[in-house]
Amino acid sequence: MKGELKASSEYTILIVEDEEDLVRLISFHLEKEGYRVMATDSGYRALELAGENQPNLIILDIMLPEMDGLEVCRRLRGDDKTASIPILMLSARKEEFDKVLGLELGADDYMGKPFGTRELVARVRAMLRRCDRVQPAGKAESPDDSLISGDVALFPEQHLVTIRGEKISLTHKEFLLLQLLMANAGKVLTRDLLLDKVWNYEYEIDTRTVDVHIRYLRQKIEPDPARPVYIETVRGVGYRFKASTR
Ligand code: CA
Repeated sequence: MKGELKASSEYTILIVEDEEDLVRLISFHLEKEGYRVMATDSGYRALELAGENQPNLIILDIMLPEMDGLEVCRRLRGDDKTASIPILMLSARKEEFDKVLGLELGADDYMGKPFGTRELVARVRAMLRRCDRVQPAGKAESPDDSLISGDVALFPEQHLVTIRGEKISLTHKEFLLLQLLMANAGKVLTRDLLLDKVWNYEYEIDTRTVDVHIRYLRQKIEPDPARPVYIETVRGVGYRFKASTR
């Protein structure tokens, strides 16, 4: 990944959680690392804060009063202003259902409670590092880094994908997945390789996650998601982006 690391203090993290003790604990450990922290116990307020302040990452609990975290996640992803902010979802319910649903709704990572604060901080750091899009001064990527195939164009520098010139909203994971597929157009990429490159850190995540994200990506870029022309399934192996027609 290109770009220089920013100082921790340049990152703002929004915590959305109604358990005060947990907010205090998480805030303490993140602030100790130098991150700026905002917190709210309300899903509605979280949507406002995210839109106004553009935090670099959102820690989002599922169990919240009024609007639950899954709905908050859905709305964040549905709004252009907040669609690409990385989301780390928390849940007390150790159900696979929450994890799969959370990731389907566009969360980038998931932690089941209880968790160690050290692990949480490590996850946050890893997510921010992967999402860091700052380019070193004077070293902007050339326009030739853009990836174009048919109606789909991907511009890494702007973190932008267009279909026939119209901008579309992708989650950060969807963007990375598409970038990897397009950069390797014509080659089959295995689920394991995609997991490794897009979710490149150590925790239990199953290969279904790749399929879920591919499905969402198809809904966004394919003229007919049921008959994909860009992202081809190679049965039992993985996925292949159609050879470039640039
Ligand atoms: Ca809660």
